[in-house]
Amino acid sequence: MIIVMRPDATKEEVKHVVKKVEEVGLKAVLLEGTERKVVAVIGDERKISYDMWNVTPGVEKAVPILAPYKMASRELKNTPTAVPLDKGRATIGGKKIGVIAGPCAVENKKQLISIAKKVKEAGAVALRGGAYKPRTNPYSFQGLREEGLEYLAEAREATGLPVVTEVLSPEQVVLVCKYADILQIGTRNMANFLLLKAVGECKKPVILKRGMAATLEEFLLAAEYILTHGNPNVILCERGIRTFEDHTRFTLSLSVVPRLKELTHLPIIVDPSHGTGKRSLVNPMSKGAIAVGADGLLIETHSNPEKSMVDGPQTISLEEFERLMKELKPIAEAVGREM
Ligand code: PEP
Ligand code: MN
Repeated sequence: MIIVMRPDATKEEVKHVVKKVEEVGLKAVLLEGTERKVVAVIGDERKISYDMWNVTPGVEKAVPILAPYKMASRELKNTPTAVPLDKGRATIGGKKIGVIAGPCAVENKKQLISIAKKVKEAGAVALRGGAYKPRTNPYSFQGLREEGLEYLAEAREATGLPVVTEVLSPEQVVLVCKYADILQIGTRNMANFLLLKAVGECKKPVILKRGMAATLEEFLLAAEYILTHGNPNVILCERGIRTFEDHTRFTLSLSVVPRLKELTHLPIIVDPSHGTGKRSLVNPMSKGAIAVGADGLLIETHSNPEKSMVDGPQTISLEEFERLMKELKPIAEAVGREM
């Protein structure tokens, strides 16, 4: 439930409400709007009655949140959340579209830094690159691991761009947090609840990719795990789902973007690289994503896509990236956003 405070409620009255919630063993999350404060009650609500709030000083009303995901829902917070990437210099979820670009995997230092410089020049807000790669085939390149994390940190030093990288297991969270600014949970790990809890406990922003067979409710409940473990900075990422279609690697389901906007206040970005698996489709699907309201994009970009060690066929060149960024501008403006 959410407890809506009266506009004139005092600090003490708000504190008292939080205390009453915590006394019965539930979690109280204070949300401060411009006009009034609301206290979200998280946990088994049977421990608390709606009626008691009618007689609690400073309280206007208590209302149920019907969605199973509470903290992620629009019922709790009806204004979009902008997630700060690097201490707030860039955000995802504000007016400006946030594009994250870089290679699928970190391959070597020199190349990563030169890619980082180019994508920054073209307007990217963050650099991506996997140091630990979740590969279907155990014989495929698994990533440079900690060495890859070091290169990412050096690329940040060289460019000022925050860096995004995937974390595969709860045990890795502390190490990856030491180097990365933003953690990525991959599609294969969306339902790894121990990992979701672990990234919830670390305060770095998290890009949560939709499981390739997950419904939107399952997707939002996965986000809820992170939120309820203390991390409010969750960015949802649509990266395509498995269907009978075989003209693309996955089916990039763009209608989830406006639907998610109805259900959640969290920002939503789109990954047209994994979503299509085809380089030629990255440009048009990126435009489509921005047109339907995405807050950003995650794009695999490489100085020599043909030589990319992982996901080459869906990786665009630096020149194609630069062109795409220019072409997205009028589309962003047409939907009231900016690049
Ligand atoms: C990636 O971003 O390189 C990746 C492995 O993505 P996904 O988890 O969506 O397959
Ligand atoms: Mn990839």
